[in-house]
Amino acid sequence: MSDFIETHGSIPVVEECDVFVGGGGIAGVAAALAAARQGTKVILAEKQCVLGGLATSGLVVIYLPLCDGRGNQMSYGIAEELFHLSIVHGAQGPLPEAWLEKGREGERGTQRFEVQFNPVCFAIEMEKLLQSAGVRIWYDTRICDVSAQGGRLRAVIVENQDGRGAIGTKAAVDATGNALLFRKAGESTRRHGRGNTVAGWYYAATQNGLKLQMLGFADAAEGTERDKEEGPQGRRFWGESAKEISEYLTLSHQATLADALKRAEAGWILEPAAMTHMPQYRMTRCLYGETLMSEADEGKPVCGSVGMVGDWRKRGPRFEVPYGALCGTAIENLFAAGRCISADDEMWDVMRVIPACAVTGQAAGTAAALTPEKGRTALPTLQEALRRDGVKLSLSEV
Ligand SMILES: Cc1cc2nc3c(=O)[nH]c(=O)nc-3n(C[C@H](O)[C@H](O)[C@H](O)COP(=O)(O)OP(=O)(O)OC[C@H]3O[C@@H](n4cnc5c(N)ncnc54)[C@H](O)[C@@H]3O)c2cc1C
Repeated sequence: MSDFIETHGSIPVVEECDVFVGGGGIAGVAAALAAARQGTKVILAEKQCVLGGLATSGLVVIYLPLCDGRGNQMSYGIAEELFHLSIVHGAQGPLPEAWLEKGREGERGTQRFEVQFNPVCFAIEMEKLLQSAGVRIWYDTRICDVSAQGGRLRAVIVENQDGRGAIGTKAAVDATGNALLFRKAGESTRRHGRGNTVAGWYYAATQNGLKLQMLGFADAAEGTERDKEEGPQGRRFWGESAKEISEYLTLSHQATLADALKRAEAGWILEPAAMTHMPQYRMTRCLYGETLMSEADEGKPVCGSVGMVGDWRKRGPRFEVPYGALCGTAIENLFAAGRCISADDEMWDVMRVIPACAVTGQAAGTAAALTPEKGRTALPTLQEALRRDGVKLSLSEV
């Protein structure tokens, strides 16, 4: 069969906004909220039918720590606000009492500021929050392309029930999880070195209530037992083609059912209740931006901090997040947020988790909202706005 020629020559401009946010995961939600609070007209496009991305559709329901494990809170602003929102109707596990209203400061070094939440309540509460801030959410809308000229992104091309259309915008945030907008705009991006093994988390209804079955962690090292379990052994995925994504999802689905049946045979009283609706990739592709975050920055002031994070993996390390990790080198009005900011592989593992995604989301959304007609948002302007919105930027403050 020969190729088809598309019949429609031009793409209609269907909407215009000040800030376009691509992707409605935690990073996109934080970015859209931050931009709307700066008084801008925001559109958020999400290809799924729910907000939260991996944190809700992917059933990754653990809000990892906002602290450094030594009793210091690192991430503030929207990262903290979303933490509280995630458990506004109750938590799925123990509360970090030391960090809550009646908590004792002296106990904070012994308990991490993290929690397990209910993904349905969290997704709906985030939707309410964005709506009350005036963000227009476009669900079931897939970003296909961008139009960029003279170092600026002018429009994002989307496809949904209405067909294909362009959304004109003054600035944009790439919160797609895989740097799609940056790629389409011709910026440099990089692929994660190790790739992903197969994971398939699901909820099972048991006689003791709901149980989260964490089947695989997507990051098994080559040749290990886990590599065999999360197989096919030696196989790695980056979500780079429809065929590969479909293969990953099929393996994940089969593993989910096999696990549930195996447990039922072993005498568990259980029924699978919810499965992941997103491929559970940890790291696929990110921006190769102005600054590449690295673990070598641990404990050091960086040039142009826009927020701070702790290390979810161990107690102690803390990092300032440089503005340059959100910026490409060619397009001045496009900012990265979440698990596709510019970082080397080790640091990427620190920055891809929920609290860090909220930190970079807030910074990117604010930068996009403050974008001038020419050039990029100036660092002092951005830092002043973030401080005003409750974000702490400097290690010397904790
Ligand atoms: C197995 C596993 C376990 C994990 N465990 C934890 C944990 O315990 N705690 C923790 O904090 N983190 C954990 N993480 C990491 C964390 O969940 C994610 O990295 C984080 O939620 C990513 O947020 P994000 O907003 O950057 O990206 P995503 O959640 O991926 O959001 C991106 C959004 O963009 C949308 N999108 C993508 N392309 C398009 C397009 N073309 N058009 C429109 N929309 C698009 C997607 O549908 C998605 O909603 C885990 C990850 C995995 C895979």
